[in-house]
Amino acid sequence: MEENRNKTLILSDEVVYSCHSSGDCCRHDWIIGIDDESIQRVLKLDWKDINPDFTVKSCYKPLLNPLPTGEKFTFSRTDCGACVFLDGQNYCQMHNHFGFDVKPQVCKEFPYYFMETPEGIVVGLSFACGSVRAFKGSPLADKEVEIRKVLSGSYRIRKFPENLELYPGIAMSWEEYKYLEDSLLVIVKDKNQSFSRALLSGHILAGMVALSLKQVEIQAQATGEAPRETLLGGMQKLQLDHFHSIQKIAENIKAPTRISHQYLAPYYTWLMFSRDEWSRLGLVWNLYRNYYKFNKGKGILEGIAKEDSDIDLEKVLKVRYSDETPEVDGFLRKYWAHVIFRKSLLPSMGIFRGYQTLISLYGLMKWLAKVQAYRQNRNEVSLDDIKESVKILEQKYILHSQFSKLFTLHPILTQMLDRMYIRQSFAPSILLDNQSN
Ligand code: SF4
Repeated sequence: MEENRNKTLILSDEVVYSCHSSGDCCRHDWIIGIDDESIQRVLKLDWKDINPDFTVKSCYKPLLNPLPTGEKFTFSRTDCGACVFLDGQNYCQMHNHFGFDVKPQVCKEFPYYFMETPEGIVVGLSFACGSVRAFKGSPLADKEVEIRKVLSGSYRIRKFPENLELYPGIAMSWEEYKYLEDSLLVIVKDKNQSFSRALLSGHILAGMVALSLKQVEIQAQATGEAPRETLLGGMQKLQLDHFHSIQKIAENIKAPTRISHQYLAPYYTWLMFSRDEWSRLGLVWNLYRNYYKFNKGKGILEGIAKEDSDIDLEKVLKVRYSDETPEVDGFLRKYWAHVIFRKSLLPSMGIFRGYQTLISLYGLMKWLAKVQAYRQNRNEVSLDDIKESVKILEQKYILHSQFSKLFTLHPILTQMLDRMYIRQSFAPSILLDNQSN
């Protein structure tokens, strides 16, 4: 871990962060796993005069299943859902009395997200943090000393996949990936298109054009001829044209006459499954039930959080969503560009599946924002609704350590999603939903 201290850091200059002590990251129902070493270190502190009741039993709870990163325990919570170490003024008692260094690595690390790539360690931020979502704080370049210190203790640095696939069975090099990522970032930030259309242009590039270029290259290699075109060469030409030809195709795509919301069923089911820990049979039963309701656009669903009342799906789908106000547009572009820069989605799932998942999660974000507005009897989504839904996405999906299970442990969910992802109407149905344009 120490060896990471001197590695090149790749820092985004479009996000900022400083802790504003809201205590928000130490509350709510997300799982904070603690490593054994941190548990022992914290128990050895002299709590006598601070809180003599702090013991293993009172402070830590075993997790039902260990996390993929190996942690077997989480913090105990107070009745209002806060970590037992959080005091009434929203200060961490470990930090307050003994300093930053004694805190468990997971607490030191939030909201940073690290990924090791062939060019250095990419440092991303989690938008589950309110200061990050509000763009309140210092540029990451000013926090390099702090970042290096956190990084040196990290045991959860993700690795850029060695065998990256553009499409199942079709490999892609780091250089090709970098070019594709840079191209997607140009497209997503280009304000000549609405944000939804920009995502559609990205879909055409990542899901269709890049694949066709690569296939031309592979076929030529198989016959021993020089390829008429290569993935890199084709993308360079598109970049010279500022991706106008791709944007033009996206502009001419029409919304399907029937908008389907089926794709939401696996994601909503995953949320309930990870919250309530159903059996495998329970998962399948609920998946089909939810699939039926989302397909019809009607039915009653359980609330997102345990304490929430039920959701009337038909009413939620009638809430208006627009990505065209300057504030919403600005927030969406910065957030989704950061998701791409951070590499927390596309490479870890393979580019085709990763980009389709990104589109689905954008659709889920819209739906969750509508749920927020519906709960407050409003018929239009606000920027705050969108920010709240981004927080859920970050906590429960994109940066959730268990989210990859959706594509590994539960083949039914995976198969259902993969079948939807290859339909031609899939991306337009989500991105050109007339409630959003
Ligand atoms: S230990 Fe401190 S920083 Fe970590 S969750 Fe608890 S209160 Fe927050």
